[in-house]
Amino acid sequence: MTDSRSTNETILKIDGLRKSFGPVMAVDGVSLDIRKNEFFALLGPSGCGKTTLLRMLAGFENPTGGRILLEGTDIAPLPPEKRPLNLMFQSYALFPHMTVAKNLAYGLEMERLSKNEIDRRVDEIMTVTDLTQFANRKPEQLSGGQRQRVALARALIKRPKVLLLDEPLGALDKKLRERMQLELKRLQHEVGITFIIVTHDQEEALVMADRMAILRDGKLLQCGSPEEVYEKPGDRFVANFIGVMNFIDGHIDTGGRFEAAGFSLGLGAEAEGAVSLAVRPENIRLSTSGEGLNGVIIDVAYHGLDRVLHVKTTASDVPLQVRVAADTAAPHTIGDTIVLVIDPAKCRIYRN
Ligand code: ATP
Repeated sequence: MTDSRSTNETILKIDGLRKSFGPVMAVDGVSLDIRKNEFFALLGPSGCGKTTLLRMLAGFENPTGGRILLEGTDIAPLPPEKRPLNLMFQSYALFPHMTVAKNLAYGLEMERLSKNEIDRRVDEIMTVTDLTQFANRKPEQLSGGQRQRVALARALIKRPKVLLLDEPLGALDKKLRERMQLELKRLQHEVGITFIIVTHDQEEALVMADRMAILRDGKLLQCGSPEEVYEKPGDRFVANFIGVMNFIDGHIDTGGRFEAAGFSLGLGAEAEGAVSLAVRPENIRLSTSGEGLNGVIIDVAYHGLDRVLHVKTTASDVPLQVRVAADTAAPHTIGDTIVLVIDPAKCRIYRN
C-alpha cells in the first residue's frame, strides 16, 4: 500500500446523471469529476439525493439519464459485483459467527485467491486499520467503533478503485465519530483509494474531505474544497448550510453601500437592490473606537478558546453571532452594550 495524495487526474466522471422515482426527481442532472485518490464528500440535507447518487455509482439503481465513466469507460452495463467500486453500507453487516480475520478473508475466498495471498492481505489490512489485536474476536466482542473499522477493512481488502461510503459514522456517538473521522482520513491517504462519502453533517465533510459537493433537491449547488465552500458559498442556501452564518437583510444604494436599519457599510458593490449581507461570526469584531453597529448581548456561549456572543441589533431580527477570543478584554455579560465592526472584505452579498 502506498502513501498518496489526490491528483488532478479524473477517475470517475459523472455526467448529467438523473434519477426519477415517478414524479420525484431524486437526482436532477448532476455532473461531477472525482479525482484519483481524493476524499470526496457528497453533502446535503435529508432527501437531497445523496444516497440515490451513490447507489447509482454502485450499480444498485439504474439512472434515468446521464453517464458514469470510470477511467473513461461507461460502467452502466456492469452489475454491482463487476464494478471496481465498493459500497460500504450504513449498517456494518458483519458475519456474527466469524472472527474478525475470517470476516476479512471471506471476500477474498470468494475470489478464489490462494491461502497465502489471503493471509498476507488480511494481515496487511489489519495492520493498517489497527485490528491485529482483535483478529480472533467475533463482532459481538467488539465496540461500535471497532466493528466499524472491521467493516471498513472488509471493504478495503478487495482493493476497489473507488470506495463508496454511505454515512459510515452515522451510528457512532459524537466523540468516537470525531476520532473515526481523523482515522478514516488517515486510512484513505495510506491506502491510496478514492473515497466518496455521503454525509448530511457539514462539519464532518469540512474535516474530512479534499473536496465536497453540496446537493439540494437533486441538484448540484456547489463543488469545491472545504475552504472554497466555507469562504465563498455560491448561494444563500450553501452559506446557511455550511458553518454558522449571520444574514442581515437590506439593500445596496446607488453609491454601492449596504444599508439596513441603523447600519451602513461601504462595500463598493455594483448592482443595486434588495440583498442579504452574509458574514461569519469570526469576521465581526468588537469596536475599540466606539464606531460601528450598536448591540446588546443577549446570550454568551462558552467554547473553550473562544466565546460566541449573541447580539441583538437594529440591523436584523435574528441576533448576530460574534466569535471572540475567550481572553478578549471586553464585556461579555448578558445585557452589556457593545459596538460591532464588520469587515467588508469578508462579507458576501446574496440577491433576495
Ligand atoms: P437522507 O440523508 O435522508 O438519507 P438522501 O439525500 O440520501 O437523504 P435519497 O435517499 O437519495 O436522499 O432520496 C432522494 C429523494 O428520492 C427523496 O425525496 C426520496 O423520498 C426519494 N426516493 C428515494 N428512493 C426512492 C424510491 N425507491 N422510491 C421513491 N422515492 C424514492
